[in-house]
Amino acid sequence: MGADLDLVVLGAGSGGLAAAKRAARHGARVAIVEGDRVGGTCVIRGCVPKKLLVYGAQARHQLADASAYGLEIGSVRLDVPDLLRRVRAEVDRLNALHLGFLEKAGVQLISGWGRFTAADRIGISDQRGGPVLEELSAPRFLVAVGGRPARPEIPGVEHTWVSDDMFLLEDVPSAVVVVGAGFIACEFACILRGLGVAVTQVVRGPRLLRGFDAELADAVLDGMREQGIEVLLEQTVVAVEGELGALTARLGNGESLACGGVLMATGRRPWLADLGLDAAGVATENGRIRVDANSCTSVPHIHAVGDVTDRVNLTPVAIDEGRAFADSVFGSRQRQVNHDLVASAVFSDPELATVGLSEEQAIERYGVESVVVHRARFRSMARALPASGPRCLLKLVVEKATDRVLGCHMVGEHAAEIIQMAAIAVGMGATKADFDRTMALHPSVSEEFVTML
Ligand code: FAD
Repeated sequence: MGADLDLVVLGAGSGGLAAAKRAARHGARVAIVEGDRVGGTCVIRGCVPKKLLVYGAQARHQLADASAYGLEIGSVRLDVPDLLRRVRAEVDRLNALHLGFLEKAGVQLISGWGRFTAADRIGISDQRGGPVLEELSAPRFLVAVGGRPARPEIPGVEHTWVSDDMFLLEDVPSAVVVVGAGFIACEFACILRGLGVAVTQVVRGPRLLRGFDAELADAVLDGMREQGIEVLLEQTVVAVEGELGALTARLGNGESLACGGVLMATGRRPWLADLGLDAAGVATENGRIRVDANSCTSVPHIHAVGDVTDRVNLTPVAIDEGRAFADSVFGSRQRQVNHDLVASAVFSDPELATVGLSEEQAIERYGVESVVVHRARFRSMARALPASGPRCLLKLVVEKATDRVLGCHMVGEHAAEIIQMAAIAVGMGATKADFDRTMALHPSVSEEFVTML
């Protein structure tokens, strides 16, 4: 099967879908193999359902603020099962949309788990790693199988959730322990808190959100604690006992936490198991597929994009990598993805967004004498009447010699929307003087970016 194909794509997530549709648009005959639901992590168990839950959690905060604006709201009933149902229905709608997009693009969908049986063949199974039911051959392959959550090896870990499970829940328990310091851990801690859950977040290191600007991460920590999330730093969960719904998380210091669920948000790894990479001769390093700047693996006719390559693990990056591959290979338009200056956000409460170098990264690269930091910390006007809620922190990291803005960072309301636009200026090499020359739009939160001393 597949003698008339130009490309077989493994994985119908962000990168695979983008590549398959773009290659088909360039005239290639494309098949895409998907073992689970079309849409991948982002649509089915990542960005999309997560952001819908973030909106759900925020709605509760908005109701709490209403009285500060003269609105008397009677009793409010929180129906988390209904919210979870609605989120799943939206995911179903998007899944159907993506199936339609594939059909419209003329991409052949093959349901099943694929693995290389040779460098020019992929076997399809109805279970991952199961017996091969059919084989596809093609002159080119794209591996876009993404990543999956990694759980620590501790006793009782089988009783815990990973992020995938959160979107399948029918309801949430009254108390949850979230393990981890990364963006997924922080986002779920805030979602659950917003839905009325008592949340304890257990963090192994001394701070949240390693890799982000430390001052911003601390501002998120303060905001999360202010809304009642108990964050335990330099602490670990060493065992989980009991049954789902009535669990005990044992901590490294001998104490224990009673809860209804434990979410292990302790990192993600490229999903390399049962891919037959050895049969194809595809090289890996540090648990990911090794690729060059053109997303080409060690085998010239096999490319890989997205989280399986563990470069910048975000949906827009996977999409751009997929499209750049298709444009270069099938569209005669050689193109490489720029992995610098990728804006990113943490949809915690308060929200964090960032583009460019953190203060620590700038100092490491240019030296402490060569970097100037400008910051504004304030309570936004939206929080004036409620007289509560986290403060905003806006920060510009500037290279002294050139006045160039190396990093633009924010914690506060609409941070992601604001930084998305600031990323254009930073990407164009804007200087602090360019920011200052821009007339402020008043009253707004982001005007502080153009009025910082
Ligand atoms: P995926 O989207 O994971 O797709 C891989 C697909 O391959 C899957 O459908 C899988 O079933 C399939 N597959 C795997 N193995 C095989 C096989 N052998 N045969 C056939 N099919 C196979 N990114 C953002 O930009 N913004 C966010 O807000 C954001 N939030 C996130 C929240 C969570 C909870 C998570 C987990 C991730 C989030 N991400 C976010 C990251 C984003 O989802 C990923 O970076 C992105 O989905 C990667 O795309 P991909 O194409 O590499 O892989």
